Amino acid sequence: MLSQRRLFGTNGIRGLVNKELTPELAISIGSAIGTYFRCGDLLVGYDARTSSPMLAKAIISGLNAAGCDVLFAGMAPTPALQYAVKSHKFDGGVIVTASHNPPEYNGIKVVWNDGIEIAREKEIEIENIFFNHKIRFAKWDKIGGVQNLTGIIEEYVEAIKGHVDITKIASKHYHVVVDAANSVAALVVPKLLRELGCRVTTINANIDGTFPARPPEPRPENLRDLASTVKAVSADLGVAFDGDADRSIFVDEKGEIHWGDKTFALIEKHFLMRNPGEKIVSPISSSTLVKDIADAYGGEIVWTKVGSVIVSHTMKKLNAKLGGEENGGIFYGPHQPVRDGAMATALILSTMTETSEKLSSLLAELPKYFIEKGKVECPENLKEKILEKLVEQTKGLNTNTIDGVKIWFEDKSSILVRPSGTEPLYRLYAEAKTREKALRLVQDFSLKLKRIISSFKV
Ligand code: MG
Repeated sequence: MLSQRRLFGTNGIRGLVNKELTPELAISIGSAIGTYFRCGDLLVGYDARTSSPMLAKAIISGLNAAGCDVLFAGMAPTPALQYAVKSHKFDGGVIVTASHNPPEYNGIKVVWNDGIEIAREKEIEIENIFFNHKIRFAKWDKIGGVQNLTGIIEEYVEAIKGHVDITKIASKHYHVVVDAANSVAALVVPKLLRELGCRVTTINANIDGTFPARPPEPRPENLRDLASTVKAVSADLGVAFDGDADRSIFVDEKGEIHWGDKTFALIEKHFLMRNPGEKIVSPISSSTLVKDIADAYGGEIVWTKVGSVIVSHTMKKLNAKLGGEENGGIFYGPHQPVRDGAMATALILSTMTETSEKLSSLLAELPKYFIEKGKVECPENLKEKILEKLVEQTKGLNTNTIDGVKIWFEDKSSILVRPSGTEPLYRLYAEAKTREKALRLVQDFSLKLKRIISSFKV
């Protein structure tokens, strides 16, 4: 994952522990980050991975060596750490987490003083310090120190409660099943829900960095235990988190698992009913459902390139209050414009409370789409030319080329054709009112793409 001249990927630094991401490397990265921040106060915390304490210690050494003072928060969800950076007015933060990746991976996220992951331009400056040996070590009497910081989980839970009507939610006595993925969601979500007057049943809530119960990515195929538990205990809601608790996927009272853009559209609908005219920020890979809701309830959709950091930065720039991704990332600006699984859970409960409806019926009221996906292999060096050609061939259609090409058709079907950022292939995501149409779009555009690719090969 770590290339020769690049440290950061789409979501921080990621690598295989003790192979790509070693303690030695973490010290150097820490020193490079510390050099970049120039002796600031930085918060450090980590997720539940077995390697997280080891890597955090190495990073702290590097930061201290560069003269930064560290406030050490220990184990916590990424959004709780982001919130603490902002609310305590630290200069920034470093979070040791590999989010949804398998347990053998770990990673490093760097956040700015607003709690948002730093933009690519700042990452390049850190890479420049790292690769060009520009690390500045502090003199012996300017080496940074470490202080423990306690109480951030309590502050974070209080902040979330401040954005919903606690009394109303508590009056419903909801029963919620939480699947914490054996990770940091367990430290926050059951507490939050109990303080919202819910009865809580947990599964996979013991902290275990080997992730013994399920992979930390909350994909539907990993959430069968959650779905069956919701049914078995007759709960009102089930919610599953990824490894660092910034993404959440919901299960209705019938045990049906819903993908992220549906629950996002539900939150969007109830947000726009109260706040018409607001901007809704979402990556171009999201369902047209998100735009349907914006159109129907007086919102303005702003499409971005794919990537949570881009959504956060766009929200900040436009002062937008709501953003969402299909993978279960919900960004609630009044709290913080970053993905936040616990905040999303409170918003879903708030929507259920306001409407006094069950989650299954609320989701059933939304427009329906069928989604089909495909991929076409494409040599890395041809990706750009092929995209240009495809854009040329789709001129005159209703398109958006912010990230790949997305085409919307008259019958509300659409397709996104986008080069993969990590593999030598193009990905296709089609959506339509019937499964057949979605499938046909994937087939037609795969063929179109293959023709373009072969025309460049000869
Ligand atoms: Mg995550």
